[in-house]
Amino acid sequence: MGSMSWERTNTDYPNKTAQKKVSKSLSSFVRRKSRRGLGLGLFTKHDIRSGEFVVEYTGSRIPTKHADTLKTRYLFEVDEDWTVDGSSRTNLARYINHSCNPNCEAEIHNGRIYICAVRNIKAGEELSIDYGEEYFDEFIRPSGCKCERCAVRDLTVDR
Ligand SMILES: [Zn+2]
Repeated sequence: MGSMSWERTNTDYPNKTAQKKVSKSLSSFVRRKSRRGLGLGLFTKHDIRSGEFVVEYTGSRIPTKHADTLKTRYLFEVDEDWTVDGSSRTNLARYINHSCNPNCEAEIHNGRIYICAVRNIKAGEELSIDYGEEYFDEFIRPSGCKCERCAVRDLTVDR
């Protein structure tokens, strides 16, 4: 595994301020192709301990009522009034894919969304969270879940 090449991501941030803000995150994570059938995923470059803060899900706050009318999947509901629109590419957390058996979960404090590890994660592993039923029904179910747990189930049950 010594020849694994990490994708360079820093050219995505032409804005100096944004670049400075995310530089710490960029050194800790890498976006690269995820499992078959999925797009990019977010991978950690270092070991993370269970319970540790991983990355914040950032974006602009919009009213949840308005968010419900939008078609993007990069919306994270904070409460019934506010939703974070995480569609900006500076929001690394948007690259975290759904899993039915995730290694991270979101914790909401004071209107901000913190992604934290729910088990020990090794360097090189892909980060995942369970985005919940609503997200699953809208974005995952139509083409089938490609997460590690469901992929294994497909192989063992569907024949
Ligand atoms: Zn799944």
